[in-house]
Amino acid sequence: MDMNRKDPPQNGPNKGGDNKTPKNNIWITLLIAVAAVFVISSIYSAINKSQYNQTTWSDFRQAMAAGQIAEAEIQYDRVIYLTKEEAAKPASQQKACYTGLPTTYNQMELADALIAQGATVDRAIVEDNSGIMMVLSYALMIGGMFLITNMFARRMGGGEGGMMGGFGKSKAKVYMEKQTGVTFKDVAGQDEAKESLQEIIDFLHNPQKYTEIGAKLPKGALLVGSPGTGKTLLAKAVAGEANVPFFSISGSDFVEMFVGMGASRVRDLFKEAAKVAPCIIFIDEIDAVGRARDSRYGGNSEHEQTLNQLLNEIDGFEPTKGIVCLAATNRPEILDKALLRPGRFDRRIIVDRPNLQGRLDTLKVHTRKIKLAEDVDLRKIAQATAGAVGADLANLVNEAALRAVRKGRKLVNQEDLLVSFETVIAGSEKKNTVLTDMEKRLVAYHEVGHALVAALEKHSQPVSKITIVPHTSGALGYTMQMPEEEKFLNTSEELKTEMRTLLGGRAAEAVVFGVKTTGASNDIQRATGLARNMVALYGMSEELGLMAPASVTNQYLDGQSYLDCSQETSARVDSAVQKLLDRCYEEAKTLLTENRSLLDEISEYLLVKETITGDELMAFVNAEQKRLPEETETETEKSEPEEA
Ligand code: ADP
Ligand code: ZN
Repeated sequence: MDMNRKDPPQNGPNKGGDNKTPKNNIWITLLIAVAAVFVISSIYSAINKSQYNQTTWSDFRQAMAAGQIAEAEIQYDRVIYLTKEEAAKPASQQKACYTGLPTTYNQMELADALIAQGATVDRAIVEDNSGIMMVLSYALMIGGMFLITNMFARRMGGGEGGMMGGFGKSKAKVYMEKQTGVTFKDVAGQDEAKESLQEIIDFLHNPQKYTEIGAKLPKGALLVGSPGTGKTLLAKAVAGEANVPFFSISGSDFVEMFVGMGASRVRDLFKEAAKVAPCIIFIDEIDAVGRARDSRYGGNSEHEQTLNQLLNEIDGFEPTKGIVCLAATNRPEILDKALLRPGRFDRRIIVDRPNLQGRLDTLKVHTRKIKLAEDVDLRKIAQATAGAVGADLANLVNEAALRAVRKGRKLVNQEDLLVSFETVIAGSEKKNTVLTDMEKRLVAYHEVGHALVAALEKHSQPVSKITIVPHTSGALGYTMQMPEEEKFLNTSEELKTEMRTLLGGRAAEAVVFGVKTTGASNDIQRATGLARNMVALYGMSEELGLMAPASVTNQYLDGQSYLDCSQETSARVDSAVQKLLDRCYEEAKTLLTENRSLLDEISEYLLVKETITGDELMAFVNAEQKRLPEETETETEKSEPEEA
């Protein structure tokens, strides 16, 4: 349902126009304005002419020379004067004359000369009516041009049909669904996300339970995940489970040509939502409005106003009212920090690409209503589609069904599924998220490299999860470490362990395949950052010792540091950082070489399972260590750098 929007937009300084004005009115207004200028100016000059006798400049000069002028009024472009002859007549019969004034003529001099010959100069100071007229018509012209170009720009840039109509009418695509009819049953996998959302559902069901205790519920949650992973579906399912209305709008709909429109749209949305609360507001692609405000490019842009309005609305509504704002993005890192503050979108719910089990479940959900032939093996399809998202799988199933119809069959068979896999996933640009077998092996070894170094080191944080299912951030796999307790201090040994863990990925690639991949770039950046801090901030390097050549600029905000030293020192910092990194990398390589069989074993297991837990990892490591207890102990200890 499209929402009615009756309010005029907010009174921004350059607002685009009344919401209700249809396009034709603007043209008509413009025409009337131009016509008015013409009419007024011609009436004005007509009056001027009929009232007075027109004379020539030389007539006027002669009369002046003869001292015949009784009164004069000097205007911007003319002189109106009364001869003594006329002045002698009764007032009703007097007729004044006028003559044009040469533009170069000095009006003050003329006034002086007139006074000298005995005339009364009425208003020697210019009454510049025609000047005003000129300014007025210029202003109108410029205004008109501006409007016209503006409209064309909208038409060109907007891309959407009927933009002229859009000028006045709000085209925000706000959809309100009384009942989404989607429940968690329709969302396959995503158990962690569902769990986090469960509380919101409970709150919508029964707000008193929370308010009685005095608990404040989060007003918003941010769903983070690649397109097609089911963020919208999850939000709808929350509304469905809680049985509340569902409002949805896309962030890009807020961003409008005219200043003030986006902000008014936000206000309208929340106003409508408040009417039917409890409800869910879902803002898709929030990064379109929520991207960080940038003071460098100056002031109060449209997007900034919209964002501010959004923040206001979120702060404004009472949490007890039962409005829950869910937003989706795949680029959480570009969001304005203000959006993520407590009381706003302070919860982050990761909606990952599904792993093998998740893909299988998704296929099952989407084939529920489809008649499948005996030979269909969904597990095989799930295995082939690593990296595919829910939307891809839904599409795949649908394509397969269409193919079956085209072939005149009543049932969908395995071949249909395989062929549509080719067209939907392998054949599209999405294929780069579906890894080749070799890439998968590389990623698996890389991740196990991280995990194994962490598992074998003394000072490391335990590994909680390893996966080779591509991640939202673009990482092809990742290893998650979970600290046992919160730490405020780190020893230099712990930091070095962290660096070895970070470099373990690259080390595994080198040890096993003898190659270097781009997949390690983020690891290397992070390790370099750590090494740099150790050398330049924490005084932990042998080369520079107890000196901190860097300063921290803004400890409370982002804590960025910059080098604050001579060029020679700066060069020494670089070489110390380099040495530290080299040493850690070599140590990681040594460690993995010594535990090669373990590395192979775990990597092969990961390749099959795609995701393994920290416990599974430790089971491998412990089994191995039981087998050769002394050997591993001594060998982890020694760490001789060797030539790369
Ligand atoms: P997003 O909002 O993350 O871009 P959507 O929620 O729009 O993705 O997902 C698009 C479609 O993909 C859904 O309508 C659904 O058919 C399918 N889909 C995505 N994820 C899942 C899932 N986990 N389970 C079932 N279907 C899914
Ligand atoms: Zn890595």
